[in-house]
Amino acid sequence: MNKIARKPATRGKPGTRNNKYVFAFGGKTDGNASMRELLGGKGANLAEMASIGLPVPPGFTISTEVCNHFYAYKESYPASLRGDIDSAIRQIEKQLGKKFGASGNPLLVSVRSGARDSMPGMMDTILNLGLNDETVEGLAAASGNSRFAWDCYRRFIQMYGDVVLGIQAENEEEEDPFHQILDRLKLGLGVESDGDLTTENLQDLVKKYKSLIRKKTGKSFPQDVIEQLWGAIGAVFKSWKNERAIIYRQQYGIPTEWGTAVNVQAMVFGNLGSSSATGVAFTRDPANGEKSFYGEYLVNAQGEDVVAGVRTPNPISFMAEELPENFRDLEKVRSKLERHFKDMQDFEFTIEDGRLFILQTRNGKRTGLAAVRIAVEMQRERLMTQETALLKIPAESIDSLLVPVFDIKALKAAQVIARGLPAGPGAATGRIAFTAAAAELEIKRGNKVVLCRTETSPDDLKGMLHSQGILTSRGGVSSHAALVARQLGKVCVCGASDISINYERKTLTAGKVVLREGDYISIDGTTGAIYKGMIESADSEVKRVLEGSLRQDKSYTFELFQTVMKWADRHRQLKIRTNADTPAMARQAVAFGAEGIGLCRTEHMFFEGNRIDYMRQMILAVDEVERRAALTKLLPFQKKDFVGLFRAMDGRPVTIRLLDPPLHEFLPHDDVVRRQLAQKLGVPLEFVIERIKALHEENPMLGCRGCRLGILHPEITEMQTRAIFEAAAQVLKGKKKIRVNPEIMIPLVGFRAELQDQLDIVHRVAQEVIQKRGVKINYLVGTMVEVPRAAITADEIAEIADFFSFGTNDLTQTTLGLSRDDMGSFYEEYQKKEIYSQNPFASIDQSGVGKLMTLASSHGRQVKSELKLGICGEHAGDPSSIDFCHRLGLNYVSCSPPRVPVARLAAAQATLRNK
Ligand code: PEP
Ligand code: MG
Repeated sequence: MNKIARKPATRGKPGTRNNKYVFAFGGKTDGNASMRELLGGKGANLAEMASIGLPVPPGFTISTEVCNHFYAYKESYPASLRGDIDSAIRQIEKQLGKKFGASGNPLLVSVRSGARDSMPGMMDTILNLGLNDETVEGLAAASGNSRFAWDCYRRFIQMYGDVVLGIQAENEEEEDPFHQILDRLKLGLGVESDGDLTTENLQDLVKKYKSLIRKKTGKSFPQDVIEQLWGAIGAVFKSWKNERAIIYRQQYGIPTEWGTAVNVQAMVFGNLGSSSATGVAFTRDPANGEKSFYGEYLVNAQGEDVVAGVRTPNPISFMAEELPENFRDLEKVRSKLERHFKDMQDFEFTIEDGRLFILQTRNGKRTGLAAVRIAVEMQRERLMTQETALLKIPAESIDSLLVPVFDIKALKAAQVIARGLPAGPGAATGRIAFTAAAAELEIKRGNKVVLCRTETSPDDLKGMLHSQGILTSRGGVSSHAALVARQLGKVCVCGASDISINYERKTLTAGKVVLREGDYISIDGTTGAIYKGMIESADSEVKRVLEGSLRQDKSYTFELFQTVMKWADRHRQLKIRTNADTPAMARQAVAFGAEGIGLCRTEHMFFEGNRIDYMRQMILAVDEVERRAALTKLLPFQKKDFVGLFRAMDGRPVTIRLLDPPLHEFLPHDDVVRRQLAQKLGVPLEFVIERIKALHEENPMLGCRGCRLGILHPEITEMQTRAIFEAAAQVLKGKKKIRVNPEIMIPLVGFRAELQDQLDIVHRVAQEVIQKRGVKINYLVGTMVEVPRAAITADEIAEIADFFSFGTNDLTQTTLGLSRDDMGSFYEEYQKKEIYSQNPFASIDQSGVGKLMTLASSHGRQVKSELKLGICGEHAGDPSSIDFCHRLGLNYVSCSPPRVPVARLAAAQATLRNK
């Protein structure tokens, strides 16, 4: 989320007379491209285009300040606005020799939204405004085309009726009432296309539309053009807070306070005959970034025909033959726009009777791949500097170079059945398996699998490992499923509360769709969308090169990726570490550029094979003797894993966190697994059940976990420390003499005394091993800051800690009093009401949790200036959180291995942005 520029564009108290709210363009031009905050992207660029001599129909922009005023003062406007708008209209009239509302040669306008960042299609638009029963005749006379005039009128009434008067379909299945009338009319006349309707038919349609409006609103369709204009302006401001716009803002981190501007612009017509046309073009290909002219157009059509898909538009290249002169002009506009705006542009144009007009331009939306390619190539073409190119690539888009993506065509035809939280990016398609065992079976049969669970536990790991993706109906983005999936680089959608999974019946239900085990399902972990059926996807070239299955010189995408990474490393100040628990993960992270491990969750090392049984034996032990027995079995596994990690990291720092499981995550829930465990441990089932009952906690997340475990059972801390230092000694003394750099981290500390207790054990055991093995090992011991008390007493804790690592998953959970496992039934409502501007488990709540982090960092460093600071919560892979961490002066961020490239780029952007 871009929290960097949250401030609304408000200068002083709204409504004060000296404020300018209306900015003209196209004739006398008041604005320019640098005024996006005030004029929105569209308004600012219209002004800019006009001032560089591009043919822009004249108009004016009502500033975003008016939007903020509108919401702050019960949907009212600053007092001076009416007069300003009147004179702006007069100016257009003078320039074009037309008159707004006049029966001869009337001026028609469009009224469109335009926020600081474009939000395509999210807000409302009205075209052909200014038509009424009289002006329609004037337009007919002036254009010499009566059918055209009536066609415009019926379109206008429909749009106005929908957008301003709110006449819409009652439910999703129904067609909107205007279309129903149109369809009925066509059916009655036996015609198929709108183009077959005669002037008389259109006049009849207008009558029918107007009576619909009277019936629905009790009032006639407004004939006063000024009333029409104000109705449209109000509707566009209101659309800033429609549901679509709110969801879009949340997805892209656009603050509500920005508001939208409104652009009122003289209409030009692409539907005046065969020498008229309208279209949309991109200066480069937005799908793959290639430098080719891309777009489409329709002859004799209005803008919405291109978007609505009523007729199939032609590719822009066809224009070279059909309208050759206009095409040459358009090519010139294309290159002028790129040279001027220095970015790929997406622009709209209309040709009115052979004359080209540009209606809007903006930086084109593009895929991740295109973003990278365009930035790199534009830097090579000297259209932008390396710094600008880096800032132009949304950090997230690097992900799309690394993860499998759906085939775009196949995706268009697919049916979304529900949505969940995007928790592990990428595209996955496979047969539904409801259990790890079913997943394994399918995989043995050679099929791809998506593991679908209400939530996951360590028992599911094997299934997760083999699956293409993981889908859960419960759990937030830092739940078990999500964080394991991300670490494994698996696609994951979690917390999809609209689906229900019935393990007994083996069904997954989403609304009316019922899928069974073995049916195909597809999930998009980048957007959270869940689709019925199989959708083709393609593997990432970059990953194939890194894994060695594709030659580096065969992949242009890899070259682009390397270039961006090299640039990023040149600029960033933050170090990038990774959260990895196995040597394989560590190696992958290093290949992606990780400079250390910032979090090894040691409990995750016990997921595999029969280790989980020993882990469970340890948890269920009734006394120290039993516990030590289980720990003795665990020690060799731990040691071996640490050896692997140290080797994989080759002297880079490795932060190992001592045991921290909320115990419920590790205890078997279902009877079959409990029985199996009893058998393996050689104890009666009743014993297992009894112990699980005895260990039951109402709030395991706030229970016997973190350092509390090691304080209660010092033998656990002893075993883990021993394993770490034995491993370090072995690696140091090995043939290759690899350096080791362990950093031992104590979890969930809130009191200095807790850390002291564990420190004493760690230092004692470390010294024992070091002396026994006769080696020199430099190590650090630090703590996580993941409960508010640790942040508040950071000065006390820093005195005895070598480092702090912010565990923002728990810090968010405990600061907001919000469960990370289950975002609760209220979350959706909170999102709708924009109470949480972002999912607080995905992006740091900077004004709450962030304040605690600031406090801990400054107090910690006041006591110990060399205190190393890092972050290892899931937020460490989120670009806006990374920006925050940079500003806080952290030494490193530690994210899951596949996120490392994103973090490298985001860290560089943070440096450049905050210079
Ligand atoms: C955290 O709380 O942010 C953290 C990294 O620890 P875990 O997710 O393992 O609780
Ligand atoms: Mg934690």
